[in-house]
Amino acid sequence: MPVLFIGHGSPMNAIASNAYTKKLNLLGEQLPQPRAILVISAHWMTKGAFVTEMAKPRTIHDFGGFPKALFDVQYPARGSPETAALVRQLIPSVQGDDEWGLDHGTWSVLVHMFPKAEIPVLQLSLDMEKSLEAHFHLGQQLAPLREQGVLILGSGNLVHNLRQIQWQEQAPAFDWATEFDEWVKQKLLEKDFDPVLYEFHSSAAGKMGVPTLEHYLPLHYILGAAGGSEPLKFEYEEIQNGSISMRSFSLGR
Ligand code: ZN
Repeated sequence: MPVLFIGHGSPMNAIASNAYTKKLNLLGEQLPQPRAILVISAHWMTKGAFVTEMAKPRTIHDFGGFPKALFDVQYPARGSPETAALVRQLIPSVQGDDEWGLDHGTWSVLVHMFPKAEIPVLQLSLDMEKSLEAHFHLGQQLAPLREQGVLILGSGNLVHNLRQIQWQEQAPAFDWATEFDEWVKQKLLEKDFDPVLYEFHSSAAGKMGVPTLEHYLPLHYILGAAGGSEPLKFEYEEIQNGSISMRSFSLGR
């Protein structure tokens, strides 16, 4: 299985039809059918690492102030206790969780990639007490799941600054947003992962682009789970709302 980093942006993308959602749709059709999907979402932050192990994860509407149509969305995928057990076997420090479910970092992407919701889905939380190195290492430890047919998907945004957000989706991108997004792109193309993993705050643009870590950290898992020499493909690129990079990529496809 390839690994994916998907920029999710505004929850409104879940009920939109635009170039981004169409690309997700196509990507879902092109990928080999996964046995399960393990999502590392920006929207599940915990103390200690957890993996969802319920058979029927609920759809969590973890936002406010959006139209009813968005709250009506359900993503009825089954969970995968078997895959959760595999995760805990690979990483014994990960604890099982029966309460979370699927947050919008997960379902706003999967409604477009796998609209039939017929593939089991589980989530791994972001343990916010861990170092950057430790997040990367967790990704490495997940890598064997790929051979078991598990699609590992990081859902965040490489540039995500809500203080600067513009209400129009098509608002022009801030210069710093473009600059940092391009920097990450270039480093990924050069397969020079270390600066992307550990030196993203070395520029003013990086500090603006990554004011908080949660939307950036899924990247550490995806680069960890990928081998350094796998083919890289940028599946989508766009800056929405001025300050949100929708850049999405695969490794190993
Ligand atoms: Zn988000």
